[in-house]
Amino acid sequence: MKKILIAPNRYVQGPGVLQHLGEQVKPLGDHALVTGGKTTFSVAREAVAASLEAQGIRATFEPFRGECCRTEIDRLKEMGTRAGANVVIGVGGGKVIDTAKAVAHYMGVPVVVVPTIAATDAPCSALSVIYTEEGVFESYLVLPTNPNLVLVDTAVIARAPVRLLVSGMGDALATWFEADACRQASAKNLPGGYSTATALSLARLCYEILLEYGVAAKLAAEKGVPTPALEKVVEANTLLSGLGFESSGLAAAHGIHDGLTVLPETHHAYHGEKVAFGTVAQLVMENRPKAEIKEVLAFCKAVGLPITLREIHVTEVTPKKIMQVATATCQPGGMVHNMPFPVTPEMVYNAVLGADALGTAFHAGTL
Ligand SMILES: [Zn+2]
Repeated sequence: MKKILIAPNRYVQGPGVLQHLGEQVKPLGDHALVTGGKTTFSVAREAVAASLEAQGIRATFEPFRGECCRTEIDRLKEMGTRAGANVVIGVGGGKVIDTAKAVAHYMGVPVVVVPTIAATDAPCSALSVIYTEEGVFESYLVLPTNPNLVLVDTAVIARAPVRLLVSGMGDALATWFEADACRQASAKNLPGGYSTATALSLARLCYEILLEYGVAAKLAAEKGVPTPALEKVVEANTLLSGLGFESSGLAAAHGIHDGLTVLPETHHAYHGEKVAFGTVAQLVMENRPKAEIKEVLAFCKAVGLPITLREIHVTEVTPKKIMQVATATCQPGGMVHNMPFPVTPEMVYNAVLGADALGTAFHAGTL
């Protein structure tokens, strides 16, 4: 049985670490192609430029056009090649990061990831999600290596919209339960191996940090301050959840998330918000003890993650719609098939409505 663990080469986190970007990039290259969205460039461009310049690193800045699609990847690759860049730096959210990873891969140079939000697992992973120019999911680009450097300035993250941090907690919430399911099922992880004890314990730590510091982190983010609690949660959302999902595997929580996306109204909810609801549904499917389910429901309610269908914008619940979700969830290749038992659309249907009922009862104080 082959076990595989993959991770970024270097992870740097703290308030103000953007000032040290140049020092960290220096061993990787002396001419950087830097890409980022408009908002990102307005808050971080100066700091990035100053830090690179102080280390004698040339920088070619090129704004990101908004979608992680083939044309944008090709455009930036052309630009980087023509400029003679030998390292790519992506500054921003998930789509910028995924684009930068793909561009560096095709240029055959190292990649540096500078997330400005803590909403997804994108920063640390060896994966880019490719969309069409219109924003429709196209394919997964599996990269041969994880990023060379992930640098997270928590002072920047603390000033980002709070809902994004909370959504990141929703994505991180699923990590332990999916890792545990994959372990029981002997399901393979993303690099095609089995989970290490290391990856499993990191997934568990991710959950424990959320329970301990989640609420305090949210309150700190509301004030825009990177307290130690916020530091812990940023690490859980970015590093622990990233390592945990990639090296342990995904299961029903993400499978049900994918199924929920067939309902257009759920597009108003962020990825991590739907994953949080998917996590509750996975616990129902597993018939976890009441105390465990209540722990998760209480956490979600305390930080403001959805535990009912209404909260992910499904206001009109019909058997037909939920069956559509269940059928989509159970498509061949769906993550739900990593569960330690065979899963049918009927089981997903029951788990989704069961989770909604539990969430509703929890809000009413009757659970
Ligand atoms: Zn996710």
